[in-house]
Amino acid sequence: MRNKFVVTITDLNGSRHFLLHQLVKKFIIYFTLFIIAVIIFGAWLISMLYDEVSALEAKKEDLLRKEYQLSASNAKLQRQIETKTKEFEAINDKISDIEELIGLKTPETSTIDERLKTISLTSTQQQHLFRSIPNGWVIENNGLTAKFGWRTHPILKKREFHRGIDLRAKVGTPIYAPADGVVEFAGYHKSSGFGYLVILNHNYGFKTNFAHLDKKMVVKTGEFVKKGQLIGYTGNSGLSTGPHLHYEVRFITRPLDPINFLNWSSNNFEEIFKKEQRVSWQSLLKTMDDRSRLQKQP
Ligand SMILES: [Zn+2]
Repeated sequence: MRNKFVVTITDLNGSRHFLLHQLVKKFIIYFTLFIIAVIIFGAWLISMLYDEVSALEAKKEDLLRKEYQLSASNAKLQRQIETKTKEFEAINDKISDIEELIGLKTPETSTIDERLKTISLTSTQQQHLFRSIPNGWVIENNGLTAKFGWRTHPILKKREFHRGIDLRAKVGTPIYAPADGVVEFAGYHKSSGFGYLVILNHNYGFKTNFAHLDKKMVVKTGEFVKKGQLIGYTGNSGLSTGPHLHYEVRFITRPLDPINFLNWSSNNFEEIFKKEQRVSWQSLLKTMDDRSRLQKQP
């Protein structure tokens, strides 16, 4: 029994003796088993957690990818919204232009007759009006070949607003100024298709355009002209299907139907106020009335 302790355990059934080295052996065995169990359990736990972590990681990646896709499609939609907004604005502008052209935007139309009644012009004032505002035929009257308004362009074959009137005329027909004014432009107009063009700037915001003229120009830019003065000859220049005069009358920038001005004379002095309601006639007449009253004062 050298180097060995004896442990005696005594209970009701008697005593048992253990040699210490046996105890140590058992302890080592149990301890080893315990450690192995711990390791196995730990490994199992770690692998469980590891699986969970990889599952979460995969989920995270999936979500990130989805987020990226969503933000990409969001940016795309944002771009589409911007484009649509721009298109919408452009269409709005166009509608506004068209309204302007067809005369839906006509201010002060309802009460015009009422107000005009209160103003009667003297013959001198009438004469002044007929010298200042385009009136009468600008060439010999041989009828029209195209009216003012919407039409299909004879050469370009697309719908467009014909801003003037086409007057039938042989090449070389003399053209006369419809009112006093200054030549704003006289020459070949490349971009518009008008060919040789004369633009007259009259009083009170009126302008007249004469297009497709003969190349033999009569007036120069900056020159003053009187009503009835020769300003050029008709031709067939620019985008034109045949000899004619394209005649435009504009108030500020609005194109007006020239027929009302061609047919305007002292015989039907008041008719144009009803036919062309896109001009603030009453305001013009009132200004002239006020001026003559001022002149009468001593
Ligand atoms: Zn025309």
